[in-house]
Amino acid sequence: MPTPQERREALKRLYLDEARDCLRCPLSETRTQVVFGAGDADADLMFVGEAPGRSEDEAGLPFVGQAGKLLDRLLADIGLERRQVFIANVLKCRPPNNRDPMPGEIEACQDYLRRQVDLIEPRVICTLGNFSTKLLRADTTGITRLHGRPEVRTVGTRAVRLYPLYHPAAALYTPSTLETLREDFARIPSLLEQPVEQPPEPVERPEPEEEPVAIGAAPDDPSCQLGLF
Ligand code: URA
Repeated sequence: MPTPQERREALKRLYLDEARDCLRCPLSETRTQVVFGAGDADADLMFVGEAPGRSEDEAGLPFVGQAGKLLDRLLADIGLERRQVFIANVLKCRPPNNRDPMPGEIEACQDYLRRQVDLIEPRVICTLGNFSTKLLRADTTGITRLHGRPEVRTVGTRAVRLYPLYHPAAALYTPSTLETLREDFARIPSLLEQPVEQPPEPVERPEPEEEPVAIGAAPDDPSCQLGLF
């Protein structure tokens, strides 16, 4: 088991030697800074958002804009400060105009997140919104169906309790989403106390949230939309 100091050193090396000057995808041409992630390298609790926005790109730190301020308040409600957790994103660089991450960008960047998880060894990972939830669950089920439902999954080389939550940005202007996010947040302290055991094999795959698409049917074939196959 690495000491906190060893974890910090290993994370720092990953940032300085590889991520800081990353050229793995075209976002390197438009970013101001790589937003590697921040917080306690020895944290039991990790949050994974989507991608840096303008404020994060300028500051080089995750969740420093309006969504980040809400995240700070939600943490304070459960007695935590951001320096006690580790906060990262699926993408380490800002997509231009805050557009959604593209599959090739996620593919190019995911190795950093997996190595961060391997080094930090959190007990609980809160995925914020659809992109991190789908990536870490390796499944297309969306956040509306999954939020507030913890499950033990293997991420990288170890079992971890994944806890999907609405993205704070989605809660900024929608009071009902904020209420749900607060309720889901309130369960985090008890999740941190639970032991994490290896997930049973095989893990049952939930129904995808998207409309079923008939294999072999053309996309404009109306049978695609009817779920008949
Ligand atoms: N939204 C995210 O998903 N990540 C950030 O760092 C900021 C806003």
